[in-house]
Amino acid sequence: MIKITTEKLSEILDGELVGNGDITLSNISTDSRKPCQDGIFFALKGENFNGHRYVNDAIEQGCRALVVEKLCKISEDAQVAQIIVKNSKLALGKLAKWLKFTLSPQTAAITGSSGKTTVKEMTAAILQQTAHRLGLNNDAVLFTQGNFNNDIGVPLTLLRLTEQTKFAVIELGANHLKEIAYTTKIANPDIAVINNFAHAHLEGFGSLQGVAKAKGEIFLGLKENGTAVINLDCQDLPLWQKNIADREIQSFSIKDPQADYFADDILLLAQGTTFNLHTPAGDMEIYLPYAGMHNVSNALAATALAMKLGANLNDVKQGLHQRMQVKGRLYFEDINDHLTLIDDTYNANVSSMKAAISVLKQQSGFRILVLGDMGELGENSTTCHQQVGEFAKNAQLDCVFTLGEKSQSIAKICGGKAFFNLEDMMAFLIPFVQSKCQQQKVTLLAKGSRSMHMENVISSLKDNL
Ligand code: ATP
Ligand code: MG
Repeated sequence: MIKITTEKLSEILDGELVGNGDITLSNISTDSRKPCQDGIFFALKGENFNGHRYVNDAIEQGCRALVVEKLCKISEDAQVAQIIVKNSKLALGKLAKWLKFTLSPQTAAITGSSGKTTVKEMTAAILQQTAHRLGLNNDAVLFTQGNFNNDIGVPLTLLRLTEQTKFAVIELGANHLKEIAYTTKIANPDIAVINNFAHAHLEGFGSLQGVAKAKGEIFLGLKENGTAVINLDCQDLPLWQKNIADREIQSFSIKDPQADYFADDILLLAQGTTFNLHTPAGDMEIYLPYAGMHNVSNALAATALAMKLGANLNDVKQGLHQRMQVKGRLYFEDINDHLTLIDDTYNANVSSMKAAISVLKQQSGFRILVLGDMGELGENSTTCHQQVGEFAKNAQLDCVFTLGEKSQSIAKICGGKAFFNLEDMMAFLIPFVQSKCQQQKVTLLAKGSRSMHMENVISSLKDNL
């Protein structure tokens, strides 16, 4: 954030200023439990909370301006201004949009059903190389922290911009139509990618076309002279073309050599990949410390984004070489000489389940797959679970276990074993893994939807083995 006065803030937000217009502000808060010196507190309302109740706590934490939907009662001697707006969540977006416009860093935006965070991390790692080459420090690259990708997370991310930021890499997610249309207009990217689309959050979007349509909204916020990046292996250009209009399109693919960014000579290793990268600026051999074909695809997306913003081939090579292991996302952990756990428990949809199964398939030794239900699939739930079951069966793993009602069909198709509560599963799994480890090297991968808390399988194994 940069320094602004309460008067300027109320002007940007088109709000009514009550109190001193000369207070200087330099921080943003939406959480009254956290310290925030000279902060602007946005009193947001959610299903289970109302920030207006906590304005005095926010003042105690150092906030000196309150963005509120109605005048709040605050202590009379507090040197704090209130800015009254119609909707404080939209006001947060408005301020983020203003800051992004004012500082104008080169911006890449990423959406898709899977791999957004991975592509974001890879893109940022490449651009950090670019920044160093240009003599800038790490502050030059701002990127989404964790999974802050919704209609509050995106504005909060952009509000971390400073005068030092040269590149911004922003992840855009969605649970419902119009969410990405909203966040992309705030981010106003120079380049935007739809990494892929799949059966995910179907309850919010109705159908696979609904998912594709929601992702396509990303191009609505693209700059007039911006670039749309599409994955030739998973695209719906006819549906997206209207939003792209006559802007430049670049493509990537792991199958089609016609793509602008293409990979061949791909060698899948247990915990990494090597491949030959083809780009409009030339070719380069790459070592990627991420397992799985899907990560080659993610790397191509990241390369397309970063090169458009100024990265060269060497930046790409060095940046992709960084390993950013994130807990819950294909996180490899060697427990001992005989056991490796792959924690992919953060979330699941059909394509990410298939990607994870392919990674497990590449491992040597005895391979155990532990899957929990996939949620939010509506009427497609049964077919989606069956698809994963067929895929797992074809992967010819050594054992498949499932947890939950919906995923029992996967166990059935694969000739595996279904469990319906964690205790029963662990009572079986712990001695089973112990005995297998005595005979050979074992790799166990656990994955399921967020609601299934499959991380409990991982932690229970770690506690007991
Ligand atoms: P979220 O919607 O939760 O933010 P995301 O799109 O940010 O997810 P990541 O966190 O990068 O996705 O990856 C989540 C999981 O999806 C990974 O652990 C991996 O199993 C799988 N995955 C990653 N990239 C791809 C891809 N390109 N295709 C299919 N599956 C993928
Ligand atoms: Mg993410």
